[in-house]
Amino acid sequence: MHEWALAEAVIAAASEIARKEGLKEVREVEIKVGELQQIELDILEFALSQLKPAKFKHTKFSIEVAKAELKCRVCGHKWFFKKEKLDESTAEAIHFIPEIAHTYIKCPKCGSPDFEILQGRGVWLESVKGVKQSNG
Ligand SMILES: [Zn+2]
Repeated sequence: MHEWALAEAVIAAASEIARKEGLKEVREVEIKVGELQQIELDILEFALSQLKPAKFKHTKFSIEVAKAELKCRVCGHKWFFKKEKLDESTAEAIHFIPEIAHTYIKCPKCGSPDFEILQGRGVWLESVKGVKQSNG
């Protein structure tokens, strides 16, 4: 369900960028989805194709998953979150409440559960490319 809300937000944000850049037509939108966000990419792509306005008629939406990088607050060790190490119910719990990750994930070096998420959450637009309005 939230894939549709996300698609709306992506189009709204891309439209805003297109307006600022003076693009009459948007050709390509690159979307990055944090790994911890656990978005159903198929649904997101479908939602984008259904919701896109006229300016986005020929737009290619490319969606990339950004790896989640974590950093231990105790020893400073940085590592990439590996989803496959978690069992299914844990992964599901993290899906619904990202904060719960702190209960399950520990620093592989010193074992501390006190870490910060450097990247891997949220959804952002990497780039919006298109055809500029001709001057005059
Ligand atoms: Zn550590």
